Amino acid sequence: MVSRTIPVDPFDLVIFGGTGDLARRKILPSLYRRFLAGQMPEESRIIGAARTEISVEEYRAMARDSITEFVPSSKRDAASLTAFIDHLRYVAIDATGTQGWQELREEMREGMVHAFYFSVAPSLFGAIAERLHEHGIADGNSRIVVEKPFGKDLKTARALNATLAEHFTEQQIYRIDHYLGKETVQNLMAIRFANILFEPLWKTEYIDHVQITVAETVAVDGRGAYYDTSGAMRDMVQNHLMQLLCLIAMEPPYHFDPDAVRDEKLKVIRALEPVRPEDIVRGQYAPKNGKAGYRDDAGNPDSRTESYIALKVGIANWRWKGTPFYLRTGKRLRARTSEIAIYFRRPPHSIFDDPEGGRENVLVIRLQPNEGINLKVMIKEPGPGGMRLTQVPLDMSFAQALGPDGSDIPDAYERLIMDVIRGNQTLFMRGDEVEAAWAWADPIIEGWETRQERPHAYEPGTSGPEDALMLLHRDGRRWREIKE
Ligand code: NAP
Repeated sequence: MVSRTIPVDPFDLVIFGGTGDLARRKILPSLYRRFLAGQMPEESRIIGAARTEISVEEYRAMARDSITEFVPSSKRDAASLTAFIDHLRYVAIDATGTQGWQELREEMREGMVHAFYFSVAPSLFGAIAERLHEHGIADGNSRIVVEKPFGKDLKTARALNATLAEHFTEQQIYRIDHYLGKETVQNLMAIRFANILFEPLWKTEYIDHVQITVAETVAVDGRGAYYDTSGAMRDMVQNHLMQLLCLIAMEPPYHFDPDAVRDEKLKVIRALEPVRPEDIVRGQYAPKNGKAGYRDDAGNPDSRTESYIALKVGIANWRWKGTPFYLRTGKRLRARTSEIAIYFRRPPHSIFDDPEGGRENVLVIRLQPNEGINLKVMIKEPGPGGMRLTQVPLDMSFAQALGPDGSDIPDAYERLIMDVIRGNQTLFMRGDEVEAAWAWADPIIEGWETRQERPHAYEPGTSGPEDALMLLHRDGRRWREIKE
């Protein structure tokens, strides 16, 4: 299956924080891959901006090294890399000072799409937005891209939205949640809204429950001090898992249009029920085999921040009342996997004398690794042994459909950056969505802070604290196994 590549309009893309980790690991490699795919027009330029005084040549050398490190050798070649590198510029600029702004202004050309990627700490967003305007670099057609974290609670998110709104309209602001750029996540919308098959069943009468799992094997290495001020709820649930929940639970939008889609997601967030303390399990990974535990990694022996959370969430509307959504995410777990599993109800009556006759169908949407969709259905066991039933997966792995090793699936950042240039906000969070998600998360966080609750210790390499198993057991359900 060959996908069509339609070039975007020529652009000048400025990356504030162009020498940082995100630029080196994700943004520059993604742009190179789009260049290779023929999507980046020849006239386009990428302008790195950071305080460090380096020459354009030094910046290009850094970008070359990053791409060599983060793009597999089978997916790059020296000639195209040199051609891509020619599109790079660099301006030494201080977000909070006066240095470099005039130079940046001179780099921007008329007739290009102007996009500014704020790949810096959120505390610098306001200063950059202000200076872009003060120096006449950004105008009403420019776009800005902002990274997570978008606030640490409702108050800070509101303040951030207000700061950006001083200089940019909502239509100019692209708040990245890279989960929304994943192929499978968009396929979730295609599966739901481009087929008649599932939608009639997509409600509490037919769906027993939903499980959303984002499991990581890594610790908080190197980010411990920052992570300890955040935790799994703020770092993962309020944004990534919430966005996945919205895409599963939302009503069909009237059109695949940015505001129509985001209006529907917002309604889901507003319909979320408050979460009861007994429906939340928080954990911290313990030390094991000489490897530090969470508290050591965080440098805070008394830390009450969670590196794992599981919670049961209800949605108070006609479609979902009575169907719990179980969310869980954590670090140092058994395997690295992100998936959504939709458990349909069992048939109301089994006509087969077979213990397997009444098993539920499960639709599993895998985000990583091996993006794909898999539907478990009951069939007759082959052979003459009577009417015995067995459950088999109908597997649609995108890796098989789209390329020999799946590496032809664009990275989420590739798609999202191209969407910014196209001016398509569908896969970006709107300001009111982010605020609504914080308005839901804040009382939950305040609750455990007021009660001074301590997370349960869990053994690294497992599926998390024992109590998280109980969260489902007590409802007569079971978590799916965490495996790659
Ligand atoms: P980083 O490695 O610390 O890089 C920060 C960048 O900002 C550097 O290029 C730095 O260069 C520049 N910078 C710092 N102060 C500046 C100033 N006053 N004026 C101009 N430039 C300045 O951070 P990062 O990991 O790339 O993260 C960037 C943003 O993306 C953060 O908001 C982070 O939360 C978010 N994010 C990162 C990741 C990731 O995987 N890394 C994932 C999701 C979100 P100089 O020191 O030379 O100025």
